[in-house]
Amino acid sequence: MIGRLSLWLVIWMTASIVPVSSQEWAIAIHGGAGGPPEKLTPPRRQARRAGLETALGIGRDILAAGGTSMDAVEAVIRSMEDDASFNAGRGAVLTGDGKAELDASIMDGRDHQCGAVAGVTTVKNPISLARMVMTETKHVLLAGPGADAFATSMKLPLVDPSYFLSSRTAESTGDEASELHLGTVGCVARDQAGNLAAGTSTGGTTQKLPGRVGDSPIIGAGTFADNQTCAVSGTGIGEEYIRYAVAYDIAAQIRYADRSLESAVTEIMTQRLKPGDGGVIAISHDGTLVLQHNTPGMNCGAADARGRFEIFLELENGGRRPTTAPDATATVPTSRPDPSRPDQ
Ligand code: ASP
Repeated sequence: MIGRLSLWLVIWMTASIVPVSSQEWAIAIHGGAGGPPEKLTPPRRQARRAGLETALGIGRDILAAGGTSMDAVEAVIRSMEDDASFNAGRGAVLTGDGKAELDASIMDGRDHQCGAVAGVTTVKNPISLARMVMTETKHVLLAGPGADAFATSMKLPLVDPSYFLSSRTAESTGDEASELHLGTVGCVARDQAGNLAAGTSTGGTTQKLPGRVGDSPIIGAGTFADNQTCAVSGTGIGEEYIRYAVAYDIAAQIRYADRSLESAVTEIMTQRLKPGDGGVIAISHDGTLVLQHNTPGMNCGAADARGRFEIFLELENGGRRPTTAPDATATVPTSRPDPSRPDQ
């Protein structure tokens, strides 16, 4: 029993949390939370793994060469936006009336500078447009036709709406098509200078109402970065992530309640969000990575300066510490029922 528990702990430590010392870089990515990996056909599972591996390799190479966390986050997300396996950019799911409306955001943990776009329809890489909102305007969030027009004025690559229609929607099996949320992409990183960054990009949820905006472009809901605390990217039912200000809540628990990143993430994933709502990837100011999901699966990966390079389609126990572990009580918070959630 003890032997099995120790083995469990080793697996869990490898899968979800590894602290790194200062000066070292670390990065985590996600390609969406949702149903169990077995629901995907083997070729699609393979495509997801390959896409995650490529994206993580891009981030690793930038950070290992001394690049910034912002550059790593943007490049990683661009790679997944160009890969039709994910629900972002080319592979975006469609609205109820058959169109792609894309959301994205990016945030710099050094100074809380951030940029976001919502409901863009012609932009190949919404994450780069979000970064331009941050660097080229005094605004944080541009939406709809104004955001598309801004992309044109910035001479960013534009695509015909049919670019989005050729992707996985046409190839989906019945099971995959019924997955309500799977394939949003995100990245959090810490560079060698100790700066954190986070970004998220998505096509949203399948069959969403035209004009619906999820959490991914909402700073504090789907994305947040603050050098003093952590950087977070979420994936799941965006409405819940907005209601619970998920990404900011994790940073706030660290700032105001002196919690560890792990216990803050566990709190929101187990006590605020409902089982099946989604997942998060997060990195703390010291480079500790935490990946958790309360859905059956989450496509994700982690790499760091110590040679870690791992891809997962699901994490053991959703990435959470086993409750029977001797030290679990020190870091896993006690239940705090929320009266506004009748199902608790
Ligand atoms: N959070 C995204 C949204 O609600 C969807 C997802 O992460 O799968 O738009």
